[in-house]
Amino acid sequence: MRKGVAVGIVIVLIMMIGIASITTNPHKNTQPNVRVGFTFDHYASYSEVKSTLYALQSQYPDIMNVTVIGHTYGWNESSGKYDTPRDIFLVKISDNVSADEDEPEVLIDGLHHAREWLALEVPLYFIQALVTNYSTNDTIKWLVDHREIYVVPMVNPDGYVYDGNGDLNAIQDWRKNCRDNDGDGVFENDGWFTIEGVDLNRNYDIDWINGSSDPNSITYRGPAPFSEPETRALRDFALNHTINLYLTYHSYSSEILVPPGYSYDAPRPYDYVEFAIGTNMSKLMPTTQYSVVKSTDLYPASGAAEDWFQSVEHAISFTIELEGNDFHPPTSSILPACENNYPSMVYALMTGDMSIHNGTFPAKPYIIYGYAAYPNLPVKATDLATGDNITVMPESNGFYMLNLGTLAHNWSFTDRIEISNGAASTTILPTSNWGVRVDLQPVPEFNPMFVTLLIIIILALGRFSSK
Ligand SMILES: [Zn+2]
Repeated sequence: MRKGVAVGIVIVLIMMIGIASITTNPHKNTQPNVRVGFTFDHYASYSEVKSTLYALQSQYPDIMNVTVIGHTYGWNESSGKYDTPRDIFLVKISDNVSADEDEPEVLIDGLHHAREWLALEVPLYFIQALVTNYSTNDTIKWLVDHREIYVVPMVNPDGYVYDGNGDLNAIQDWRKNCRDNDGDGVFENDGWFTIEGVDLNRNYDIDWINGSSDPNSITYRGPAPFSEPETRALRDFALNHTINLYLTYHSYSSEILVPPGYSYDAPRPYDYVEFAIGTNMSKLMPTTQYSVVKSTDLYPASGAAEDWFQSVEHAISFTIELEGNDFHPPTSSILPACENNYPSMVYALMTGDMSIHNGTFPAKPYIIYGYAAYPNLPVKATDLATGDNITVMPESNGFYMLNLGTLAHNWSFTDRIEISNGAASTTILPTSNWGVRVDLQPVPEFNPMFVTLLIIIILALGRFSSK
């Protein structure tokens, strides 16, 4: 009986530790009471973004590196003048992070538009999820080990600070950067005419000429292509790299936009690959599945980043318009939006070894992806025509992926492939199943919070019993 009471107390204590650990980092035991990281219970300010990114870097120096790729005009909150340039941060996440390895490069950015606050938080969440899960999640470890992942979470810091800097009580509903259009050295905005600022997502050099030339417009294209330090920072970074995949986050409309976006009549040679990837991204969103549409279906726009990255940088490119119906949704919306997008981002980066840089697309079919079972039932795939086993790429949470593009053996698109996890199996034909999610079993309902708590309790139990 005494033993039962003691065990009961221990279990309660472990649960309390586990619950407390949710807001800390369970992987570093040296400083269990020091919280490092974004909390996603409020909108991070510019200075919080800066300090937290560097704190994460010092906690995960082997896989995360923060650099500054540009500076803003430096609108001064107090004086309205331009004397406090802000940093445009570039986060690199990869194994051997300080080396330039021969791995596919992918770029995610957020907050071209100052008021689209979720478009800052989602990339921040992604950064934090990668580094904190690296040591415990096979999928994330594989991704970080096999990609050079670049994230620019806050393209437009000046605009963000002006728009309230994360404070919902100080919103200005500002979209552009803070360029001094009238050249008088002071930032002005009378609330009706916006006077200052350039729409950074109209400042890229694709069909720039057809953007708005009116400085008072909220979609002002700027005086010249790449006239702005923010867009130049992204351009110059990209031109020194080979970006295979580009995701740029905006809000809101719950849509995955497939470029080109500048004209209804623009050629669309990449639709087959981008709609396939975009559709799978949407299917992986647990709560709100976004519509995958041509960018022009939202509205045509000149000078946009998605088009430049696709046309000039030759990246597979998407603009993601996040969920909700407000540029500044309540703070309770932050974490759900981040969690809803996270699996789709992981999947998109998995496809980041596709390359259109040579002017050719990956041979179709390429990737087969779906839900198989829990990880203790590994997936096997066999080419029924040749008898060869097909490598299944590391996945977690029961998802599997076959990357047929990396197959060494002489397979044919018409070979039937059997996918099995021992409990269920199916036979696919790559030509008809490519780009379409193939589930071996229905995805079960599960609560990620519960799973996290369970893992923490198991970890805590192990730590306790070893002492
Ligand atoms: Zn936007």
